[in-house]
Amino acid sequence: LFITVEGVDGAGKSTQAELLGSWIEQRGHELVRTREPGGTRLGVEIRKLLLHGGEELGTVDPRAEALLYAADRAQHVGAVVRPALERGAVVVQDRYIDSSLAYQGAGRVLDLADVRRISEWATGGLWPQLTVLLDLDPAVAAARREDRGGGADRLESEAAAFHAAVRAGFLELAEAFPDRYLVLDASEPADVLHAAVVAAVAPLLPR
Ligand code: C5P
Repeated sequence: LFITVEGVDGAGKSTQAELLGSWIEQRGHELVRTREPGGTRLGVEIRKLLLHGGEELGTVDPRAEALLYAADRAQHVGAVVRPALERGAVVVQDRYIDSSLAYQGAGRVLDLADVRRISEWATGGLWPQLTVLLDLDPAVAAARREDRGGGADRLESEAAAFHAAVRAGFLELAEAFPDRYLVLDASEPADVLHAAVVAAVAPLLPR
């Protein structure tokens, strides 16, 4: 079972992924908790380039950026996700192809079909059975990020319009793939969200 958690930065993805992971483990399943970008050693290096590359990289072309995310994803699926699924583990992952569609597609205005094509090539067409979208107004998400004191990385300091486009991109994906999407209002308390996630995951768990 492959479950992904998506949403703008600050929506509470890692909190919900951790709560869900513990719940799955308590039910006796092998759990693999992972994330993109940065779920492998190669991915950690790619993540550094993408998020903390700094001035010396100059302007990163949106296509180059999309390919770096795809490279991270190819390594991650090949080395971590697919082997885990093959041995019957439950994979709970922060961000996946939908993040590329929302950030590199809707956010950076690359052609969505192109972003989808490179992602499908990178992963051999592996899609999650369930995607939990923690939907949140980007302004609220930004305030939360400040509260938790995380220094803004290169991407987080970008304009509000970008984050609004990303949010809209996620909501469009949810409409396009209602069978695999669970959309939650991320301004709700964490325990309320967790209960909704568990209700969606329980019927999917292998027995
Ligand atoms: O969720 P996490 O903090 O790991 O994401 C790291 C950063 O990468 C975020 O700022 C997010 O905006 C960005 N990102 C992106 N495109 C992706 C995945 C993440 O721009 N496909």
